Amino acid sequence: MSYREINAPLRTIMTPGPVEVDPRVLRAMSTPILGQFDPAFTSIMNTVMSMIREVFQTKNQWAFPIDGTSRSGLEAVLGSVIEPGDKVLIPIYGRFGHLLTEIAERHGAELHLLHCEWGEVFDPEVVINEMKKVNPKVVAIVHGETSTGCMQPLEEIGKACREQDVLFIVDAVATIGGADVQTDNWYIDAAIGGNQKCISVPSGNSPITYNERIEKILLDRKKVERGIATDKELAEKSYHHPIKSNYLDLSQLQDYWSPRRLNHHTEATSMLYALHEGLRILLEEGLENRFARHKFHEKALIAGIEGMGLELFGDSRWKLPTVTCVKVPEGVDAESVRAMMLNQFGVEIASSFGPLHGKIWRIGTMGYSCRKENVLFALSALEASLIRHGVKVQTGAGVQASLDIYTNGQ
Ligand SMILES: *Cc1c(COP(=O)(O)O)cnc(C)c1O
Repeated sequence: MSYREINAPLRTIMTPGPVEVDPRVLRAMSTPILGQFDPAFTSIMNTVMSMIREVFQTKNQWAFPIDGTSRSGLEAVLGSVIEPGDKVLIPIYGRFGHLLTEIAERHGAELHLLHCEWGEVFDPEVVINEMKKVNPKVVAIVHGETSTGCMQPLEEIGKACREQDVLFIVDAVATIGGADVQTDNWYIDAAIGGNQKCISVPSGNSPITYNERIEKILLDRKKVERGIATDKELAEKSYHHPIKSNYLDLSQLQDYWSPRRLNHHTEATSMLYALHEGLRILLEEGLENRFARHKFHEKALIAGIEGMGLELFGDSRWKLPTVTCVKVPEGVDAESVRAMMLNQFGVEIASSFGPLHGKIWRIGTMGYSCRKENVLFALSALEASLIRHGVKVQTGAGVQASLDIYTNGQ
């Protein structure tokens, strides 16, 4: 039996990930393989660490990718920090808050959850008051909720965490490289980023960073695991459990990423090349320029959506600039419109999860996908597909409004 070669259609991907990848990244992925302890390779590892620090705006020593999707970054951090019985406070404002909860629970956390309506974010005071009541070891929260298109302000919560000696862990998967993430200024102890969103690298590794407050826990847990903690240390510490995962054990991973290069896994060579090129492109553009570009195309997209006569979902005050949520007009089959966009135009937009499924579409403007021709094409495809579904739109007005931004706006 013979199998045919993959013949992937060329798509315009306007989802919250995975997004299109710059051809430079695809080329970098075909770079020849190097051995993992070859100095030519370890020097690439060091360069990637340095670029990850820049993107996270941190002076942390520890900044490296975890091999696996972004979830592996989340699980490596949460699983290496949380011990059975630890109190973990998670404010949930969308689907990915539930993911943090699910991971924390599997690692034995005593969960304390806050909920708010999907489409809203938390008043920092609400989180801070709950934190004072619960006195958790960790507050874990999502920065950009791709499921609802909302972005949670973090600085006040971070400051309060530091004052109370609570660890602040942030899922910045959907914002890193597309919106401001100030790890150090916002008192974030550990942050997890994603590749296939605004960094525009294929899914397959997850850049993370953490500070010495997190490192201290890792080292203590390692001592317990090796049975070298003294009785005095054991009595003083609240942590008595070795880290459960081998693959996602941050204490071992940091030894591998340290100059000692203690063998752990085999680094995913081609993925590291991809991340290296993705980060290089990102830093060439510059963080400020990149955030401004995402805001600008967001503006053009919104002008088009509203010009067409559609409504946005969620409050503009806390809108995530990299994901725009659109209300599905009454009586319209959301999935059928999406299918028509994909099959007829080769444009992919996303649906949503849970209570929002069928109620909103989510349009991503992330990284390499966040470009003028993509925005205009997605608007055109959406308009045409809506007309085919019997929706009365302001014919032509959406693309014109967006074009106005592009021709006058910059
Ligand atoms: C996409 C996403 C994730 C999960 O990423 P995977 O790479 O699919 O594991 C986690 N958190 C947020 C906020 C995301 O948008």
